[in-house]
Amino acid sequence: MPQTLVLATRNQGKIVEFRRILEALAPGEINLVGVDQFPELVDVEETGTSFAENALLKARYTAEATGFPAISDDSGLCVDALNGDPGIFSARWAGLHGDDVANLQKLLAQLSDIADESRGAHFTCVSAIALPDGRAHVEEGRMIGRILRAPIGDGGFGYDPIFAPLGMSISTAQMSAEEKDAISHRGKSLRAIAPHVIEMLRSLG
Ligand code: IMP
Repeated sequence: MPQTLVLATRNQGKIVEFRRILEALAPGEINLVGVDQFPELVDVEETGTSFAENALLKARYTAEATGFPAISDDSGLCVDALNGDPGIFSARWAGLHGDDVANLQKLLAQLSDIADESRGAHFTCVSAIALPDGRAHVEEGRMIGRILRAPIGDGGFGYDPIFAPLGMSISTAQMSAEEKDAISHRGKSLRAIAPHVIEMLRSLG
């Protein structure tokens, strides 16, 4: 019988990507389901002060509420010239949660006087797994790059149109989903946590 694992996200893209990674490492062992399968669950408030705290909050709540092992992630953009901001506040940098255009416009305005060589930044993603018995594990992934002077490209989401990965002249909004997964913070943290997820689920028997 495959072991059920709940992914604490409503984002279908994340579910498909993680299922592909787990299936390659442990074929047929894990039945990955989204939180939409558990309508009684509420969206947990992200009250932590770090990506890891927020990822763990979501994973622990989901594991306790469903009785199944759960994984989640928390991510954001960290800009060197802003001492790591917007960081955990990335989704609501301009005030309103999830207003991508307002968020990136505010960031561009804050960096308008910053020279090209000082526009370094990185995306961070922390993935967390929590078991109903309280055991937990986190893994971080980073994608290093720089902030552009104007948005370009219409793929991706969030700050993608103003972020160029290290050594590249295009933004992450100009890359295909597969190209971005291969180098992204999220892809790296999911690939890093996958072997731990498999080991922890196997330990449950
Ligand atoms: P969440 O972890 O999915 O809640 O994402 C937090 C916020 O960080 C998003 O709303 C985006 O503003 C930003 N963010 C995280 N990952 C990315 C990315 O891959 N591209 C662009 N923006 C991102």
